[in-house]
Parts: sequence; structure tokens; C-alpha cells
Amino acid sequence: MGTEDMASQKRGTVETPKLAPSLLQIAKDRMFSERCTCGEAKAKGKYFCMACWLALPGKMRYRLSNKTFSEGLAQDYDEAVDFIKIETGRVK
Ligand SMILES: [Zn+2]
Repeated sequence: MGTEDMASQKRGTVETPKLAPSLLQIAKDRMFSERCTCGEAKAKGKYFCMACWLALPGKMRYRLSNKTFSEGLAQDYDEAVDFIKIETGRVK
């Protein structure tokens, strides 16, 4: 369903009501920001700063590195953010 939604959004010229940002939008905004979820500076285009990235379990890093933007990736990103918040104590 994810890809279909994206396609119809691109085509549509009708103004759509403002919705809460989707997980996908949040992931994209984060990726193009220079601030990590923990508050540290990070490189634009990376999901996290190096310390957070290395704190993630290997399988999460693998999933994030090997997917393109899709709702699936957004889910993985959201899980990774939760992991950093809950498991690493890096977010105050
Ligand atoms: Zn960080």
C-alpha cells in the first residue's frame, strides 16, 4: 500500500489537508538534518551520529543500510530511534 500512496500523492494537484507527519516524513527530515536524535551533531544524509549508529544492534544497522525509503524503512528507523532512547540512555 505504501508505494501506491506515494504515487497518488505525487500526481495529485488537489490540495490535501494537513496531516500529522508520517513516520516516513520524520525519517527523511531527520536524515537531512544535521542534528541526531540524541542532540549531537551528525552528518547530513546519515540517520544518526556515529556514537548512536554504533550503539545500534548490527541487524538494525543492516536493515537501515540496505533499504530505500519506504514505509518499511520508516518503521525500521522508528525502531532504531526507540532503541537509542530506551536502551542507550543517549537521549536525555
Ligand atoms: Zn546520536
